[in-house]
Amino acid sequence: MATATAIQMKVPVLDLKAQYLTIKDEIQEAVNSVLENQHFILGPEVKALESEIAAYCETKYAVGVASGTDALILGLKACGIGPGDEVIVPSFTFIATADAVSILGAKPVFADIQANTFNIDPESIERQITPRTRAIIPVHLYGQAADMDPIMALARKHDLKVLEDTAQAIGATYKGRRVASIGDVGCISFFPSKNLGGYGDGGMVVTNSEHIYRRLISLRAHGSTKKYFSTEQGWNSRLDELQAAILRVKLRHLDAWSAQRREVASRYDVMLAKLANVATPARNGFGDHVFHQYTIRVPRRDEVQKRLGEIGVTTMVYYPTPIHLQPIYAGLNLHEGDYPVTEQACKEALSLPIFPELTDEQSLYVSQALAQVLAE
Ligand SMILES: *Cc1c(COP(=O)(O)O)cnc(C)c1O
Repeated sequence: MATATAIQMKVPVLDLKAQYLTIKDEIQEAVNSVLENQHFILGPEVKALESEIAAYCETKYAVGVASGTDALILGLKACGIGPGDEVIVPSFTFIATADAVSILGAKPVFADIQANTFNIDPESIERQITPRTRAIIPVHLYGQAADMDPIMALARKHDLKVLEDTAQAIGATYKGRRVASIGDVGCISFFPSKNLGGYGDGGMVVTNSEHIYRRLISLRAHGSTKKYFSTEQGWNSRLDELQAAILRVKLRHLDAWSAQRREVASRYDVMLAKLANVATPARNGFGDHVFHQYTIRVPRRDEVQKRLGEIGVTTMVYYPTPIHLQPIYAGLNLHEGDYPVTEQACKEALSLPIFPELTDEQSLYVSQALAQVLAE
């Protein structure tokens, strides 16, 4: 048997340069036009991107902000969340989902996930509802919709707001609807590595509520409803014209890129099906998965990751530590065992290289490398 102690190929976990090369001319034209106009903040590109994203996400309104984290903070604030309120979030997510809640003086209350999809478990949400609960933030993790129907039913029953953390899932669908359009607010990130990534930070909030929209417009500009006249505490959180111009180019390609991601995922599914120790990503059947990540479960994950790295395959662990066990939330007095499905996922999850430009040769090499490492 071939022993790949030598690196035969290097497969990065993400290759933004490969994508840039396919759209270089369009990007340079878009950037040049902003430089010629010399309008850098809240100009025509941001306005156009806002209406294009609203149309794409099937919502009435969209508001550009400085990051996905700010989209969550401003979205929560626009929903009236503040000190003393409880907001239910998954413990298995990027820290921003929870710390957007804390920064407003509200308390994140964690829910566990479903083992097969890694998405928030509606039954666990229900167990965490108290008289102080005001909102739920389901995260569409790895690019697949969380199960929104039971979440929206709980929200209606208990009069809660729902903010969809769509940082990883723009373009995904749930029962024929776009994610981000189902709850009260959808929060999108344009961080460079996301499926629709800018060349710097950026984010957007989408909503169907005119009231929330008006509040967002004020909150991103120091709480002002007219120039130099503030009615409440706000922020400076705006999307740059340069980023908006770049994102408008990329948005035109997004559906084709999502389809390419799904093709890569299907190839992995077939090649990894033979590996007894590997659980490939489950599809919940609710709609289109956009495969921000292709995340498997594997035993001895840390060892497997290290060996894969030695033979040229870069992988990532999203996420190694549950949020309820991180020092930031030591004050909540939560313990190992409180969210067992999340804790198990943190030990087993491994995200393989996936991006639209990943070649068949590369995905074959990743699959063979994984088979070899597991056989060692
Ligand atoms: C990336 C991400 C965010 C934060 O987005 P930024 O643009 O980096 O602030 C929030 N939630 C999830 C699930 C993310 O993956």
